[in-house]
Amino acid sequence: MKSSARAVVIGGGVVGASVLYHLAKIGWSDVLLLEKGELTSGSTWHAAGGMHTFNGDANISRLQKYTIDLYREIEALSGQSCSLHPNGGLMLAATQGELDSLRLICSRARYLGMETEMLSVEQALDYNPLIDPSHFIGALWRADGGHCDPSGTTHAYAKAARKLGASVERFTRVLSLAARRDGSWDVVTDKGTVNAGHVINCAGLWAREVGHMVGIELPVLAMEHHYLLTEDLPELKGRDKELVNTTDFSGEIYLRQERGGVLIGTYEPRGTVWAPLHTPDDFSMQLLPEDFERLAPYFEVGFKHFPALGRVGIRKAVNGPFTFAPDGNPLIGPVRGVRNYWVACAVMAGFSQAGGIGLVLSRWLAENDPGQDIISMDVARFGRFATPKYTSVKVPENYARRFQLAYPNEELPAARPLRRSPIYDKLKEAGAVMGANFGLENALWFAPAGVLRAETPTYRRSEAFPFVRAECQAVRSAVGLYETTNYGKYEVSGRGARAWLDRVFACRIPRPGRLALAPMLNPAGRIIGDLSMACLADDRFMIVGSGFAEEFHLRWFWAADPPADVCVRSTASSLTGVSIAGPRARELLQRLVRIDLSPSAFKLFQVTETAVGFAPAVLTRAGFTGELGYEIWTTPDYFATLYEDLWDAGRELGLVHFGGRALSSLRLEKGYGSFNKDFRPDYTPAETGLDRFVDFGKPDFTGRAAALAERAAGAKRRFVIMEVAATDADVIGYESIMKDGAALGHVTSGSYGHCVGKSLAAGYVPTALAREGARFEIDILGEMRSATLRLEPLYDPQGLRLRG
Ligand SMILES: Cc1cc2nc3c(=O)[nH]c(=O)nc-3n(C[C@H](O)[C@H](O)[C@H](O)COP(=O)(O)OP(=O)(O)OC[C@H]3O[C@@H](n4cnc5c(N)ncnc54)[C@H](O)[C@@H]3O)c2cc1C
Repeated sequence: MKSSARAVVIGGGVVGASVLYHLAKIGWSDVLLLEKGELTSGSTWHAAGGMHTFNGDANISRLQKYTIDLYREIEALSGQSCSLHPNGGLMLAATQGELDSLRLICSRARYLGMETEMLSVEQALDYNPLIDPSHFIGALWRADGGHCDPSGTTHAYAKAARKLGASVERFTRVLSLAARRDGSWDVVTDKGTVNAGHVINCAGLWAREVGHMVGIELPVLAMEHHYLLTEDLPELKGRDKELVNTTDFSGEIYLRQERGGVLIGTYEPRGTVWAPLHTPDDFSMQLLPEDFERLAPYFEVGFKHFPALGRVGIRKAVNGPFTFAPDGNPLIGPVRGVRNYWVACAVMAGFSQAGGIGLVLSRWLAENDPGQDIISMDVARFGRFATPKYTSVKVPENYARRFQLAYPNEELPAARPLRRSPIYDKLKEAGAVMGANFGLENALWFAPAGVLRAETPTYRRSEAFPFVRAECQAVRSAVGLYETTNYGKYEVSGRGARAWLDRVFACRIPRPGRLALAPMLNPAGRIIGDLSMACLADDRFMIVGSGFAEEFHLRWFWAADPPADVCVRSTASSLTGVSIAGPRARELLQRLVRIDLSPSAFKLFQVTETAVGFAPAVLTRAGFTGELGYEIWTTPDYFATLYEDLWDAGRELGLVHFGGRALSSLRLEKGYGSFNKDFRPDYTPAETGLDRFVDFGKPDFTGRAAALAERAAGAKRRFVIMEVAATDADVIGYESIMKDGAALGHVTSGSYGHCVGKSLAAGYVPTALAREGARFEIDILGEMRSATLRLEPLYDPQGLRLRG
């Protein structure tokens, strides 16, 4: 075994093998994969090998397509067959909600370059004659996907990697990891020690244990999973084409042809966690005992929906464990605070995802950037809140819902409420319907007394629609209160703070008493944050961003290596806040503060430390609604009192609560983009319009060279707002924006604009087409709707109310 390597990959399942291949492919030939048993001996060898491009996140879909398209390449390079059956896939809908979901996939697929088609159930029979049509109302056919041989595919990756110079050591167990001062790792194995520049945890079923080697607790857990192989079916005899991979959402069943029979699997509602505390060391190439009794009712649904299956015997049953993160997406990327330690684990769809994971991770290692937005797979989407207990309830919830479609207005109940602000109970009393963001409860909308505090999960407008409208109208006509505790909050202080921030952020760093909108770029000049920065003193700054991105931003701050005279800390749990917005916001607040709030005395983007009622607070004049607005930040011990003071002062002025749904509507009426929806690491300052906050005159900041180059070349596409002729459903995200039958752009977010009376879509279109009044079409749940581009905000285009 070599004594050193540029990178060591721990684990020879399909994920580790793909990471090894991709590292070798970009020229890192001095890389070594260590596998404690035989390649594939964890969860890979017994997988069903199904592959598909379907994922709720469009970028992951794209990477899944990359994975599937890659198999021919590794077959050619390695000479090893992946036994591909690229016969596409069929998704069956039994309810209106499922049908809507398939239509949304179709609308998205056009821009993603994927071939899909909505079918009637009768047409679907051509792809799968085993279907009993009486259980279904429609189907989606997709050309991508099929199945492959798990073992052949993993060996093809490994052989192809070896051809490019990478090494593989089987039967070599990693026992511990020791960090050296230079940032490298001593990887201690039962065959000796290897010094590695980087270590990548691809340990699958043992990822948790390989995390423990460096003192981290990854939110990953294994579940048992069953599939059955039937005896040969007469119905398939003599057919000239294979039965295609079929997903039956309502039956929670997937199936495909396996030789003359069928492979059928189920994701049962009450799954079984495997090895909850410690993964057995000696589990290798093993299966788990079958549990037919428990699973019989679920497979029986399959036999009902596909009756021919009930008429043949079961040839073999497979029960094996595989791992999940709490939301079902993989965990990849570097880990904050642990230099040169990377993860690629919790990959539950290895044969659809491993290739894409290898691609982005190899770029990330080599270029310090994954090359595209992968926030939905980033290990940093989980923070301290993802404790082992959280993982232990969220993973079974996710497993149970594997085939239940995620509705955009749906909030999952497990592990809730977890993080609660001091006014949580008061908001609940006021009718709040809550969502969870980074484990923290936050109000989505408020149900008036007597109204059910729940919504039917739907892709269309829900029961909340009229109540959200009332919240929006109250903000625009009087004043509203929105809790901002769920934002990401950081304090940067110390003598070197200003100089360090100047390097990390692309904006001009504000003077004491001022607030700046603060885009953050990665070295490739792409948007990794759209924050605000308030200068409280020359050596003390309060930074506010998206709550879900707290760990993501902390990792960027850590990677930017704050010098000894700079202290960076999260104030997520030590700062609570509210936003007061609306034409009567000043009048309300003036009742609680001694400072003069008149427009000339306390201007837009001004900041001060003052008392608001009883509470010592940071007060900023800012907001996200487009109205006159203030944000008030205080510590949790004062927060409930601050809230009561605000209500006492605001009741007679018409103060109302408003929630996240109303905020989405209000911000789109003003054309404001939101991080992770409209602004993501896929987009640039000029595309998003955030270039107006970039200080191009600064001599040095992360991403400057790329941002300057883009400015010189001009942005190819532009973030825009469109009015959509929608009726009972608004856009959700990633629908294709069509012109003359071609998909030219995509939607990033949408909402009904309650105060402008229009359905609104935000998205990107080619710059040349970004003209006032330009007409497009957007497929909303199967109906082509006309969309008209508006260059100016639909509400208060001059910003008079904001500045008033
Ligand atoms: C019944 C079943 C059906 C499935 N069907 C499908 C399907 O149809 N399609 C699909 O895409 N996915 C399917 N999966 C999921 C799929 O198996 C996983 O996505 C995939 O195997 C994950 O691969 P991995 O490389 O992350 O993990 P693993 O395969 O578990 O690999 C991890 C490797 O790391 C090694 N290792 C761990 N610790 C150490 C150490 N300390 N030192 C050295 N080596 C170590 C292990 O020996 C192991 O080989 C299925 C899973 C099951 C159980």
